[in-house]
Amino acid sequence: SFHKSKGQHILKNPMLVDTIVQKSGIKSTDTILEIGPGTGNLTKKLLEAGKLVIAVEVDPRMVLELQRRFQGTPHSSRLKVIQGDVLKTELPYFDICVANIPYQISSPLTFKLLNHQPAFRCAIIMFQREFAMRLVAQPGDKLYCRLTVNTQLLSRVFHLLKVGKNNFRPPPKVDSSVVRIEPRKPRIEVKQKEWDGFLRICFNRKNKTLGAIFRQKNVLSLLEKNYKTLQALNLSVGNKDAEMGSSRLGNANEVETMEMDDDDDEDGGADDEMDVEDGDAEGETSEFKNKVLAVLKEGNFEEKRSSKLKLEEFLYLLSLFNKAGIHFS
Ligand code: SAM
Repeated sequence: SFHKSKGQHILKNPMLVDTIVQKSGIKSTDTILEIGPGTGNLTKKLLEAGKLVIAVEVDPRMVLELQRRFQGTPHSSRLKVIQGDVLKTELPYFDICVANIPYQISSPLTFKLLNHQPAFRCAIIMFQREFAMRLVAQPGDKLYCRLTVNTQLLSRVFHLLKVGKNNFRPPPKVDSSVVRIEPRKPRIEVKQKEWDGFLRICFNRKNKTLGAIFRQKNVLSLLEKNYKTLQALNLSVGNKDAEMGSSRLGNANEVETMEMDDDDDEDGGADDEMDVEDGDAEGETSEFKNKVLAVLKEGNFEEKRSSKLKLEEFLYLLSLFNKAGIHFS
């Protein structure tokens, strides 16, 4: 009996299993991480292709079945089974990841893998078709979205194989696709919260122009609040600097980290200070709006839409905002 909640759809087409393993490009020296081995149809082929298979499986019944299946075979010493939820398990070193996973964990698993260090060579993963198409989407494609840009920041993704529902038992409701994910080496470094806050705003309405998005009152007031908070903090740090004679730049960085760690406290404090200092809130706001729009104009972004922007353009726009002192976290 299979658990729907655990996404237990077993691959029953042996040719398909072979194709997946072939397309993985496994070397005989590879340590392979398999996620959700189930009854072990894929595991068997992985053991034949690589050096070591570390399989993470949440269901104890499946773990037992897997161990029973390989006990006493020549492969058994090269299979290590970890029982647990992959999202809560500390991942071991691996060269390559192969996984036919329950689709509910697609997004958190992808980012868990992409944040794993040291970076692996590639991951071959079966996803729900639409999720896979989001990962490989290009600017202008209908499915191009925040998930796409976030994934492409950390990796390159290639579509390998379309897989129909009937290759599984029991068949799932949706079609699937196998993709290959290659972590970027070296990584593109961004400040995580800053990047995330920025992309959330850009993709809030992905088909609107950036000019329209950044004219929205709630967006402007959020950015202005961040701006003033940072200014107030820099000011007080600046005063301390004068006393202590330390570098202003070094301290500005510290402040930023501090602000990201405990947003709430910092916000509260800075707001109080602002009310005292800035009498004319209205005038200040339109001035700030012009500052934001000037950044968009500088990079020629005002008429552009997130649905059509490349990763490089997002990175560039964020750098222009930051250069102007405008922050998203
Ligand atoms: N790999 C097998 C195959 O291709 O036939 C089974 C794939 S089945 C779609 C997904 C497997 O992942 C199931 O065995 C399920 O118990 C396991 N699983 C579900 N959630 C998991 C989690 N959070 N961590 C690890 N394994 C999980």
